[in-house]
Amino acid sequence: MSLGEFELIQRYFVRKPDDWPGHPQLGHSQVCLGIGDDAALLELPPGERLVVTTDTLVAGRHFPHDAAAVDIGWKALAVNLSDLAAMAARPLGVTLNLTMPEANESWLAAFARGFWGLADIADVPLIGGDTTRGPLSVTITAIGCVEESVALKRGGAQAGDLICVTGSLGDAGAGLALAMSSAEMAGISDDDRAYLLDRLHRPMPRLLEGAYLRGIASAGLDISDGLLQDLGHLLKASNVGAELAVEQLPLSEPLQAYAATSSAALLQVRRWALSAGDDYELLFTLAPARARLLPQLRYTVIGKITPTAGLRLTAHGKPWEHDSLAGYQHF
Ligand SMILES: [Mg+2]
Repeated sequence: MSLGEFELIQRYFVRKPDDWPGHPQLGHSQVCLGIGDDAALLELPPGERLVVTTDTLVAGRHFPHDAAAVDIGWKALAVNLSDLAAMAARPLGVTLNLTMPEANESWLAAFARGFWGLADIADVPLIGGDTTRGPLSVTITAIGCVEESVALKRGGAQAGDLICVTGSLGDAGAGLALAMSSAEMAGISDDDRAYLLDRLHRPMPRLLEGAYLRGIASAGLDISDGLLQDLGHLLKASNVGAELAVEQLPLSEPLQAYAATSSAALLQVRRWALSAGDDYELLFTLAPARARLLPQLRYTVIGKITPTAGLRLTAHGKPWEHDSLAGYQHF
């Protein structure tokens, strides 16, 4: 690479006091030793467990070859922090492995802007990484901590528990359809289009929401592959079934507006909410008596856990079936 690895890391991924006056990256007390030595040293709070997760995004597979670098930087970090949120963990730091065909400085600057845009919001330091030459791919490993007894796991849902989600569902699915020009969404405003694309490209990991669920939710995970698939994982791990009310699925204002335009649009919106991935909201189960312990969290109840395996969808109390269920059969 024309730009040496050391130079590249210094320029885009190491923050110096002069560049970033007062920046929190320079004051993370859990980082005893960050970038610059053979490895980082982290301090783990007493009584907590280390939480580790990693994800690779490959050009042409997880994002198009011409995807904006700023979005790749944000999303690669977001999907990893979302997995920490899904464990109700607090982030301690992340590592970044970047494989690029060439050290293109304008691409790197945009990638770093997206990466730091979210890292700053989540207040998470970059503690190490690696750069290599090759087809474009980004691997991030996120390291966090949580007390074992309050970590949010997939097993643990009990019959009678409420099934809940944070935020709204289907936005990223609609955003992807817009990005691929596979959906018309006639009459959608420029603002709504921008909102849906933003939800696709810049998911916000629900770290704060995950923290609220510590020791309160009975089970949980993040919705990366679509509600039905991810709920399937939770049901399997908990050895229970579920009933979902499709009319309760939380929809953003843009999707509500679109769903109101025709019955075909409503079906499409429900399909996105049930089956499209990339929303990165938290799905969790909650004993009804514990709901009062979450006054500060905004979430929507979309169904309840049943004792026997299987998933039943209803609309206004009546059985509701369509091809979204086909995807669920794989699990
Ligand atoms: Mg996950």
